[in-house]
Amino acid sequence: MDYRRFFEDAIDQLHAEKRYRVFANLERIVGKFPRALWRSAEDTREITVWCSNDYLGMGQHPKVIAAMHDASSRMGSGAGGTRNISGNNHPLVELEAELADLHDKEAGLVFTSGFVSNEASISTIARLLPNCLIFSDELNHASMIEGVKRSGAEKRIFRHNDLAHLEELLKAAGRERAKLIVFESVYSMDGDIAPIDAIADLAEKYNAMTYIDEVHAVGMYGERGGGITDREGLSHRIDIIEGTLAKAFGTLGGYITGPKSVIDAVRSYAPGFIFTTALPPVIAAAATESIRHLKVSQEERRLHQQQAQLTKHVLAQANLPVMPSETHIVPVHVGDPELCKKASDRLLEKHGIYIQPINYPTVPRGTERLRITPTPFHSNELIVELKDALVEVWTALGIPFSTGEATPVEASDRVVTLAVSKAGG
Ligand SMILES: *Cc1c(COP(=O)(O)O)cnc(C)c1O
Repeated sequence: MDYRRFFEDAIDQLHAEKRYRVFANLERIVGKFPRALWRSAEDTREITVWCSNDYLGMGQHPKVIAAMHDASSRMGSGAGGTRNISGNNHPLVELEAELADLHDKEAGLVFTSGFVSNEASISTIARLLPNCLIFSDELNHASMIEGVKRSGAEKRIFRHNDLAHLEELLKAAGRERAKLIVFESVYSMDGDIAPIDAIADLAEKYNAMTYIDEVHAVGMYGERGGGITDREGLSHRIDIIEGTLAKAFGTLGGYITGPKSVIDAVRSYAPGFIFTTALPPVIAAAATESIRHLKVSQEERRLHQQQAQLTKHVLAQANLPVMPSETHIVPVHVGDPELCKKASDRLLEKHGIYIQPINYPTVPRGTERLRITPTPFHSNELIVELKDALVEVWTALGIPFSTGEATPVEASDRVVTLAVSKAGG
């Protein structure tokens, strides 16, 4: 049998559907965020990254880098084992206490990634509940879907953020059956926010447990960076709050926080937690430093929101099809996988702007887009430069502009005037 052929066919299929993925070979430059070196086949150039999930630039915050240096010089590189067998390191224990405090929960548990935290926790929690029925938002992240699948539990998918549909499904299940509602706070491809308070009301009414993924909100929302639940004072109304250390906190790892008994059970029963080497002390120390900084500093959050609003406004003013978003995420609609890829290539090659195309299966077919993530370090000048580059690319490739009828995204006049005057256009 020609084994290789099956793999080649699988890859050919992706090419045929115009969604074969190419990774850009990048090297981020400390002190010049969001600039990075891009190594192409021809040469090495400095470019601007506009699609990083290091939302606040904490990945190169001097305090975070210093914590890493300090931990590595004192404790070396790896953890040296699983949590159970010699890998449990002091910085990791401290990190879990920090996270529990961040979300006002009894306990926290750290995993090697946000993906693993969702997969391991959702599957384990649902397996430990007798005859559990899971209610999952249709737009939940792949890691949550894996958790639901692995649990082997029966599931009901509710329409995205649709409270009436969720209630209908909960009602049908009855009050007595064990139920787990899993959803996200900020949905990262559209930038919309779940009705957390109302979902918590339904959970109470129908006696369900709740699990929220705050991956795209931790560090960025709330007085202490505890996410949307922190901002809206709802932490106590959700049983399990999950997050990542790899996005706004700028390091690596994932976690859950919640009641002691649940956390202890996941710690004791989840294979994805037990049978893998612990997060290294360097990463744990850096993450703790980042969380501590963002617990008290409002400046990163304020600038982040300001530059995101400004980006939406400037792009919308140029009739670029900015999709409505309630958050820091700025999706721009393309609607075709090939055009989306071409737009991304042209932005990089001609304008030195890196925005990865977002195609199926990350988003539904026909809604392919460029997903732009402004940070506090994307200056007004860079925003105007981005707008000009997008207009050139949209025109050159014949991608539809918006009709201009939609009301431009809000931004205070002061901020826009500032941007335009500073950037001279
Ligand atoms: C990125 C992401 C994860 C996974 O987090 P990692 O730390 O990158 O593994 C989980 N949930 C959502 C919604 C995400 O976007």
